[in-house]
Amino acid sequence: MTTVLGAGMSGLSAAYYLLQRFGYPATIYESSNRVGGWIRTERHRDKGFLFEVGPRTIRPKGIPGANTLKLIEELQLPVDPVLAWQPAAKNRMIYAKGQLCMLPNSLSGVFKTLPPFSKPLISQITQDLRAGRKKLKFADESIYDFVERRFGAELANYAISPLICGICAGDAKEISVRFLMNDLFEKEQKWGGIIKGMLFEKLFGKKQNTAIEGIFAEAMPRLYEKAREEKWSMYRVPDGLETLPRTLSNHLRGKNVNIQLSAECREITFSRNGVKMNVKGRDIDLKHVISSLPSYKLASCVKNQHPSLAALLMSIPYVDVAVVNLQYNTEELFKMKAFGFLVPPIERLPILGVIFDSCCFDMEGNTVLTVMMGGRWFEENFGKEPTPKKLLDTALQHLELVMGIKDEPRLSRVHVLKKCIPQYTVGHKQRVADIRRYINQYKLPLTLCGAAYDGVGINDVILSARTQVQTLNALDD
Ligand SMILES: Cc1cc2nc3c(=O)[nH]c(=O)nc-3n(C[C@H](O)[C@H](O)[C@H](O)COP(=O)(O)OP(=O)(O)OC[C@H]3O[C@@H](n4cnc5c(N)ncnc54)[C@H](O)[C@@H]3O)c2cc1C
Repeated sequence: MTTVLGAGMSGLSAAYYLLQRFGYPATIYESSNRVGGWIRTERHRDKGFLFEVGPRTIRPKGIPGANTLKLIEELQLPVDPVLAWQPAAKNRMIYAKGQLCMLPNSLSGVFKTLPPFSKPLISQITQDLRAGRKKLKFADESIYDFVERRFGAELANYAISPLICGICAGDAKEISVRFLMNDLFEKEQKWGGIIKGMLFEKLFGKKQNTAIEGIFAEAMPRLYEKAREEKWSMYRVPDGLETLPRTLSNHLRGKNVNIQLSAECREITFSRNGVKMNVKGRDIDLKHVISSLPSYKLASCVKNQHPSLAALLMSIPYVDVAVVNLQYNTEELFKMKAFGFLVPPIERLPILGVIFDSCCFDMEGNTVLTVMMGGRWFEENFGKEPTPKKLLDTALQHLELVMGIKDEPRLSRVHVLKKCIPQYTVGHKQRVADIRRYINQYKLPLTLCGAAYDGVGINDVILSARTQVQTLNALDD
C-alpha cells in the first residue's frame, strides 16, 4: 500500500488524490495529535471573532487557485470572498520613512509620485527598457538583484522586499527570482528585457494552451468561474481556515482512509521490496511512501541509510515566525481600511507586518489584528528563546509607533512557529531537482509533496500533492 506521511494540507490532499486516482484508502501517519499542520484556528464563537495562528486567506488565481476551488467545491465547503474593489483587497500599505504609505492601487497612481518613492512608478517600470542585457551563467539570482537590475533599488527595497516578507518571511536578497518572478526572469533572459519580452511574445509567441485548460480538460471548476466573474481577490473559510483540513479529513475518514494521529515516523529504510517505516517504535512494511513532511524532518528519517539525500534535504532552510493575535472590544480602534501593512527590511524594525483581520472579514464589532515578527531576522531581533512577554511588548510598541494604537488588547495570544516556512533561496529549483534525481537514480519508492518543494502557499501544496500523485503508477494493488 502507498502510505502518506503528514496530515497537513498537502498530506491530506495526497490521500484525497490517491483515493480519486486509484480508488484505495491510504493510511496517513501524523506525528501531532491533530490534522492541519500549520493551519490552526482559535475560535471565540461567543464573542464573534477568531484568531488564525497560521494562514488565513487563499487566493483564487491561476491553476493552483482553481485546483483548490475544485477541492473546496467537491467538499461542499462554504467560502467567504473578498472582492477586488473592497478596501481589504485594494489597499495595501507599507511602513517606510516614518509613515504608512498606500501602495498604488489604480492606473493613475502609477503616474504619480507617491511616498516612499522619489518618482512615479511608471518611470521605474520603464527603466527596464533602458537597463542592459545580462545573461546569467547559473540561471538564477536573488529576486532583489533582479528587480534592482531591471527597475532600480527603490522598487527592490520598498515593493519587492516587503512582499517577500509577507509571503515567506524571508529576505529578498536571498530568495530566488524563480520563486515569484520566474516568468519575468525567463522573458528577460530570452529577450534581453521584460517589457521587450512581453511585446515580442505577444507579437510572435505561439498561443500556448494554458496549463489550466490542460488540468481541467473537461470543465473548469464552477467555483473558479464564479470567482472570476465576481472578481474575488482572496477568500477565507467561515469559522476559520482549519475547517478546510478538518472537513477534508472527515471526508477521507468517511471513505475508510485511516488517519493515525500521534504517530511520528522516526526512520525510513528502503529495500528492493519496498519500504520499512518505524512509527512509534513499531516497524511497518509498505510498498511506497508519499512524504509531505518538512524537508528537514524527512532528512532525519532517511539519514542513516541515505546521508547524501538527507544532506540535500537539509539544504532547504526554514525560518521561525512569531505570530501575535490581538483582539479589542471596539470597532473604532483606527480608521484605515486595508488588508494591513508590511515593513520593508531596510527600515530595520523587528516586525514583518500587521494584518487587519477585522477589515478583511466581519468580526462582529471586534477589532482583530495579527502582528507577524521574526522570519529571516528572528534570532537577530529576539535571540533564540524570547519570552512571550517580550514578543507581545514588541508587537504592542510597534502598533503604537506605526498606528498610534495605545489601547491594551482585551485578549492576546503569542505563538512562536518554529521552522514554519521553507526559504526558496537562490538555487532552490536546482536543489529540488537534485533531490528528486537522487530518488529516481536509487529507485526509492518515495514521492515528495508539500511546502518544501513546489511552492509555499496552500494552493501550491494542494497542487503539489495532486501532481505528485499523478506521477505514480498503479503501484500497489
Ligand atoms: C504564519 C503563517 C502564515 C501563512 N499564511 C498563509 C496564507 O495566508 N495563505 C496561504 O496560502 N499560505 C499561508 N501559509 C503557508 C501554509 O500554511 C502552508 O503552505 C501549508 O500549511 C503547508 O502545508 P504542508 O502540508 O505542506 O505542511 P505542514 O503544514 O507543515 O504539514 C506537515 C505535517 O507533517 C507532520 N509531521 C512532521 N514530522 C512528522 C513525522 N516525522 N511523522 C509524521 N508526521 C510528521 C506535521 O505535524 C504536520 O502536520 C502560511 C504559513 C505560516 C507559517
